[in-house]
Amino acid sequence: MKYRRKKIFVTQDKTKYVWCYLFDNKSDLNEYYKNSCKERGVRFAKVLGVSLHYAKWMVGDKKATNETGKVLLSKDTVGGALVAHEFTHACMWAFKHHLRKKQYPFVIRNGQQEEDFIRGQSVAIKMFWNWYYKIEKA
Ligand SMILES: [Zn+2]
Repeated sequence: MKYRRKKIFVTQDKTKYVWCYLFDNKSDLNEYYKNSCKERGVRFAKVLGVSLHYAKWMVGDKKATNETGKVLLSKDTVGGALVAHEFTHACMWAFKHHLRKKQYPFVIRNGQQEEDFIRGQSVAIKMFWNWYYKIEKA
């Protein structure tokens, strides 16, 4: 199973991040995803890309970690729409994921929060593509 991975920030202030796994092909991605589903006891279905969110990200039940999940992508299916889609999931999760609070409803209360969210999304998508083009050229 071949992949590269990179820490990608998913918030404007660059505190929260996900590990992005870029597999060589979608069968490797799905093999990894299948194992992850098995560990979590959830149903598996093949994907082109996926954002996995950590339901719990507490250390010692007191402190939250800044790692909020994983985004799995593969070189043979990666594209603008898929990257935007999966990182939007990851950013929404990170934006409103607070200790001991429910994730939903996802509420944006004002223009400033909307801007903060979109800037976080821009950080993530930019980081991904900068990394991608760097490793693809190498
Ligand atoms: Zn989706």
